[in-house]
Amino acid sequence: MVESLARRILGAAGYRRIETPAFEATELFARGVGVATDIVQKEMYTFDDGSGRSLTLRPEGTAPVCRAYLEHGMHKLPQPVKLWYLSSFFRYEAPQAGRYRQFWQVGAEAIGTAEPAADAELIVLLAALLDALGVRECRLRLSSLGTPETRAEYRDELQGYLRGHEDELSAEVRARIDANPLRAFDSTHPGTRAVMAGAPVLLDRLAPDDAEHFAQVCALLNDAGLHYELDPTLVRGLDYYTRTVFEFASDALGAQSGVGGGGRYDRLIEQLDGPPTPACGWAVGIERMLLAAGELPTAPSPVDLFVALAPGGDHRVAFGLATNARRAGLAAQLELAGRSLKGQLRHADRIGARYVAIVTDPMTLKDMESGEQQQTMPDAIIPTILRGSRLT
Ligand code: ATP
Ligand code: MG
Repeated sequence: MVESLARRILGAAGYRRIETPAFEATELFARGVGVATDIVQKEMYTFDDGSGRSLTLRPEGTAPVCRAYLEHGMHKLPQPVKLWYLSSFFRYEAPQAGRYRQFWQVGAEAIGTAEPAADAELIVLLAALLDALGVRECRLRLSSLGTPETRAEYRDELQGYLRGHEDELSAEVRARIDANPLRAFDSTHPGTRAVMAGAPVLLDRLAPDDAEHFAQVCALLNDAGLHYELDPTLVRGLDYYTRTVFEFASDALGAQSGVGGGGRYDRLIEQLDGPPTPACGWAVGIERMLLAAGELPTAPSPVDLFVALAPGGDHRVAFGLATNARRAGLAAQLELAGRSLKGQLRHADRIGARYVAIVTDPMTLKDMESGEQQQTMPDAIIPTILRGSRLT
């Protein structure tokens, strides 16, 4: 369901599916995600592969996709290269509702474009996916982080501000003033929150062209009728973002309210030794989307034929019949649990089989809807079901 919706929504916008390996060189994540991030500092499953190489189970998808983009020469293709993935990821975290050590994400990346329309397109596509899945009470928060240079200046300013209020901050925030002062905005500590309410915000410090880029993204989202909230304190857990950042959260989820998010990462490919390549993308957690969507209607999978085996029936004939039925395009199941004939008929009824073939001599075909059954030549069973004809 998630997969077919993602394929339809992203495929229709020109995104092509990519699958990267489950593990990569640890260095890729250290360089690509950022050494100061929670992910790299404490959430990675890292191991030695036996020959002295350090490998890590992928904690996220963007760095691997960018690695693949470079390694497979996709920077020589017409740009942008638009890719999507549906894969499992691994983070060493305390498991709880909506937070697992192995979880699934859908992600999309548009690599090789700086256009504000790419940022807006990606956000609109994620909104469409959440909407199609029925994710409830969803809010979109949006901001811009500007360039690394603006961020560095802002970071100095913020560090100065935090140092001026050091005794009001939580110990954790105080310890990270040097490594990651932006995370102070994430703190739930009351004293820290009070300090942060008066802190300088990056949105007010953007360079003119970044401010213009952001204004264009906002205008396109307005035109698309998407509601969002400007949140200058929005901090993403990955270091590589520049300019646009966004996050969808659902109040239908408890503490783990983040459903998905992303942003622009114009310097990441260069950081991985590629040419300067602007890019943008997002990732959304599948488990959290499903939790926030509540019950999903699951279509019962049809069973055209259940092949039952009567006592003394030839199991090779039964196996051959099920195989041929599948080759003819029917959904066919075979008895594999050694039930009595009565038990098999009960099971066939439970799984909603339309017909049951009872393998004995002579063979019998039962129409489960009408309850009729009749002796049949083995070769006539599949044509009868394909015609959908009732037994008379
Ligand atoms: P959180 O703040 O909840 O830890 P995050 O900022 O680490 O989220 P991202 O790295 O942006 O999350 O990943 C995108 C999405 O992947 C999240 O919004 C969430 O839906 C999902 N996700 C992240 N970590 C986990 C996890 N451990 N278990 C389940 N889903 C997760
Ligand atoms: Mg996290």
